[in-house]
Amino acid sequence: MNDASAAPRPRPNPGIMDIEAYVPGKSHGSAGVATVYKLSSNENPFGASPAAIEAATAAAARMEFYPDGAAMRLRRAIAEAHGLNVANIMCFNGSDEVLSLLARIYLTPGDEGIYTEHGFLAYKIYIQASGATPVMARETEERADVDAILAAVTARTRIVFLANPNNPTGTYLPFEEIRRLHAGLPSNVLLVIDAAYAEYVRRNDYAAGIELVAGAENAVMTRTFSKVHGLGGARIGWAYVPPHVAQALERVRDPFNVNAMAIEAGIAAMGDRAHVERSVAHNNHWLGWLTGELSQLGLRVTPSVGNFLLIHFPEAKPDSAAAADEFLAARGYILRRVSSYGFPNALRMTIGTEAANRGVAAALAEFLKG
Ligand SMILES: *Cc1c(COP(=O)(O)O)cnc(C)c1O
Repeated sequence: MNDASAAPRPRPNPGIMDIEAYVPGKSHGSAGVATVYKLSSNENPFGASPAAIEAATAAAARMEFYPDGAAMRLRRAIAEAHGLNVANIMCFNGSDEVLSLLARIYLTPGDEGIYTEHGFLAYKIYIQASGATPVMARETEERADVDAILAAVTARTRIVFLANPNNPTGTYLPFEEIRRLHAGLPSNVLLVIDAAYAEYVRRNDYAAGIELVAGAENAVMTRTFSKVHGLGGARIGWAYVPPHVAQALERVRDPFNVNAMAIEAGIAAMGDRAHVERSVAHNNHWLGWLTGELSQLGLRVTPSVGNFLLIHFPEAKPDSAAAADEFLAARGYILRRVSSYGFPNALRMTIGTEAANRGVAAALAEFLKG
């Protein structure tokens, strides 16, 4: 080593050290708690499809072989399930990878990327990591606001990230609003619709964005196996993109970005419709039940169409979300603090098993009495 005090160190590009690193949901309960319910990362309480576990396990026995770099069989399985052209589908190491690559491809220092006030935090991070300027568009009643997004567009805007439904609010924009947003954007601005929770939405006016991407040169839709398919640990995301975007992504992605076990798990998961339907039906029931129970306790709950709920604590007691978080963790219920999303006095709760849901409702009733 040379003289450390004098020698200049490698320096990250401008903007990198301004990033507030992403903090994932907690995964451990307090010491001494018998049963821990992890309700902090919107994972499927039923886990992965047994068929996916079996397929990944079988693939693990052959892990000396590189995977198919094009993930062709997985792409075909997705294409068939959704009635799409396989050439427009690309798979990634989680949808986070494609969100990050899109920022890297389309943003350069001096450019602007738009995200919404309570939008998924990864967007801002990826915009900053590209050296570009993140521009926040305000929301209205905890929902993305198309007029505010369009008003935030400047000559430097190159990308708009929108989660629909959004995490952590659980709110969504009807497809008509997405169309209006797209119609109002300049043709050189890429609209990224992150539909990570699309499978859970039971609303007639919702669409994930497939029809929009099919007819546009400047829109993409991203999806994930991490939520309804229960494969967060396997890291599989996919995107539906116009050919010119696919050509750019093909140049910058890692050649073997989706691993062999993930490919097999994903194919099996796509084939297990029953697992998805069961998960969605369970979610639908308990989302409604919890919304009702928590509202009766006097807590405001943002109306959600996802597999999670944003629970607001009384404004008169600004520290009560933190206190409730500790109270719940001591009983084995791990929720998510959301201060970094602009909600200092709220918690996000993933819809869990019946035992978890009933347990949280009962614990919160006890907490509020105390
Ligand atoms: C969970 C989530 C994702 C999924 O990320 P993966 O990398 O696919 O696990 C993407 N976007 C939003 C808004 C999410 O909440």
